[in-house]
Amino acid sequence: MVVVGCQWGDEGKGKIVDVLAGDVHVVARYQGGANAGHTVHAGDDEFILHQIPSGILHPGKRCLLGNGVVLDAIEFGKEYDELEARGIAVEGRVGVSQKAHLVMPYHRLLDQVSEDRVEQKIGTTGRGIGPTYEGKAGRRGLRVSDLAHPDRVTSLVEEGVARARRRAAALGGELPGDVPAMVDEALAAGERLREFATDTGLEIVQSIRDGKRVLLEGAQGTALDLDHGTYPFVTSSSTTAGGAATGSGIGPTVIDAVVGVVKAYTTRVGNGPLPTAFEPDMDEKLRELGGEFGATTGRPRRCGWFDAVLARYAARVNGLTGLAVTKLDVLDTLPEISIATAYRTPEGEAREFPADTWQLGEAEPIYETLPGWEAPTGDVRKLADLPATARRYLDRIEELTETPVQMVSVGTRRKQIIRV
Ligand code: GDP
Repeated sequence: MVVVGCQWGDEGKGKIVDVLAGDVHVVARYQGGANAGHTVHAGDDEFILHQIPSGILHPGKRCLLGNGVVLDAIEFGKEYDELEARGIAVEGRVGVSQKAHLVMPYHRLLDQVSEDRVEQKIGTTGRGIGPTYEGKAGRRGLRVSDLAHPDRVTSLVEEGVARARRRAAALGGELPGDVPAMVDEALAAGERLREFATDTGLEIVQSIRDGKRVLLEGAQGTALDLDHGTYPFVTSSSTTAGGAATGSGIGPTVIDAVVGVVKAYTTRVGNGPLPTAFEPDMDEKLRELGGEFGATTGRPRRCGWFDAVLARYAARVNGLTGLAVTKLDVLDTLPEISIATAYRTPEGEAREFPADTWQLGEAEPIYETLPGWEAPTGDVRKLADLPATARRYLDRIEELTETPVQMVSVGTRRKQIIRV
């Protein structure tokens, strides 16, 4: 099973994966790096996980980081140690693909220098993810399997630093700080990674052969996919369900279900168009109601109505078999709720999500407005117990996306879930 975000990330995938992880044996991440942040509540504790799958909070589950992931070894070590310090038994439960690429300090520094200097800002988190994927596609990256070969590491790192310095200079800047010392620190953390190295694809396929269930967890969301998102305001990897196969090392026929996570409204962090964006007052109101501030950076997220054009597109490019709608409770107090069903564009009415991001920027949503339910939903555990207007809202999402709603999340806690 794959769990994939269907908007611009922050859909609450962490919560859905956390709920579903109870049913599976292995949880694997297939793309992204420490730029993603999942906030997960287990009991009264809150954990923010950047790299290790949230399945780690379920005793005994095996958690893998696939080859499609780019790994920050220092951050990984910190996260692992913090989980251990907070009483989570992590020993023997984490595996890292031998083919995963490492995010090095020069990637991170270059990311920051570039984002400061280039005219068209993407709004990256400045964690080196983009430059690491560039190095991967440029066939000069450093992979986990290289760590066992010091000579190879030295030449790849020397070349990496020199290239990053040249690039920073071309942008009119320089890499700040003591780069060699930072590189040494990263390599020391990398040394530690070697004990986690594994063949994730092989592990996943063997687990399935043994009758175990595997969940592949995406970071970010469909509209941030390198190919299918709002390019160039995207992340540098394949966030969609197809990326789950390549990024974990299995074939697509092994995947039996794709659950799309959508928030009951839409948010976006970073730059790029958000067609259903609210006016400032409502934007502020929903941001407060939904706590819409980035888990990794604390950046405020822009908020808007549910965009069914985007969600239907996400259903198609991911081949969704079901939807998980999150944060329904955030809408509890609103008297009316709108859904964008199509866009008005200079070229006429569009029912499909445009390929051209600038065209999307000009798109004006065509809304359908439904009555709100104005009642708390946080304690509801059965679909039938939701107010009729809330059910109508979910039915409409189902119709417009042509995808069945299988789960509805009504709060941050694990138990605040309706399974259909
Ligand atoms: P992710 O990266 O997709 O997992 O999303 P984030 O972790 O950035 O954002 C999800 C936030 O919403 C977290 O703080 C969750 O605790 C919270 N959350 C998830 N599901 C729900 C829900 O159904 N209701 C409310 N109120 N909060 C939720």
